[in-house]
Amino acid sequence: IEIVGAPIFNERGILKGAVLLLYDITHLKKLELMRKDFVANVSHELKTPITSITGFAETLLNGAKDDDESLDRFLKIIYDESFRLQGLIEDLLTLSRLEADEFQLTRSHVDMNQLTEEILPVIEQRAKQGGITLTTNVKNDTTLKADGERVKQILINLLTNAISYTGQNGTVNLTVAYEGEMVHIQVADDGIGISQQAVTRIFERFYRVDKARSRNTGGTGLGLAIVKHIVEVHDGNISVESEPDNGSTFHVYLPKNDPASS
Ligand code: ADP
Repeated sequence: IEIVGAPIFNERGILKGAVLLLYDITHLKKLELMRKDFVANVSHELKTPITSITGFAETLLNGAKDDDESLDRFLKIIYDESFRLQGLIEDLLTLSRLEADEFQLTRSHVDMNQLTEEILPVIEQRAKQGGITLTTNVKNDTTLKADGERVKQILINLLTNAISYTGQNGTVNLTVAYEGEMVHIQVADDGIGISQQAVTRIFERFYRVDKARSRNTGGTGLGLAIVKHIVEVHDGNISVESEPDNGSTFHVYLPKNDPASS
């Protein structure tokens, strides 16, 4: 609590009383701590790939480049780490744009069938690489008033996670349908699942159940934080059902109509 006080005098200059203002700054302090935490996390996440890139570049310059096998192997690491860095920076930019006060949704008429068709080639490619069967079931004429690019991001992030955290011969399923006044987007996988205690934390920035696994699949730990943010600015909600070894199902509900215009 922060206290600000001031004396009150009458017209003859005699002390009459005082005014005390008590400010509850718990919330502000919490925000400040979160910000500090975030900067520390970002710095750490950026440092890891950069250390790797400079280390392997230095080794190559110090002579390893003359050995063909080392040259290939180290260049591949440098390439992968740069790629990861790029992904991290893109995710950070997305998050900060979403958080900026001036962030405005550009809601328009979004056709979920068309939107799914647009992202499918990239997702199908990833599923194929991971040996995963991908099925989609988007009910005809499911449309909503939303920011199309952001909704696309929801689908991409949830589907890439489902693919990343499901092993060979697994299945990933996307279904989209109306449910009352909402559009229900469901992404289900039969992959590694999430434990009860981790489920409550996966939407936090940088939280990862298994850091090594997430890193190997190119994860940044920001994907679900971004999804949750987008869902919330659309006045929707997100939840997950999951059991270790039994797969996960993410449910996103977005309002059909723009709540601000009704
Ligand atoms: P990441 O870039 O690590 O995938 P996310 O924010 O997208 O970051 O997800 C946070 C964590 O939640 C992941 O590291 C993973 O441990 C867990 N997770 C997300 N989606 C799934 C899923 N479909 N199955 C199992 N675990 C998941």
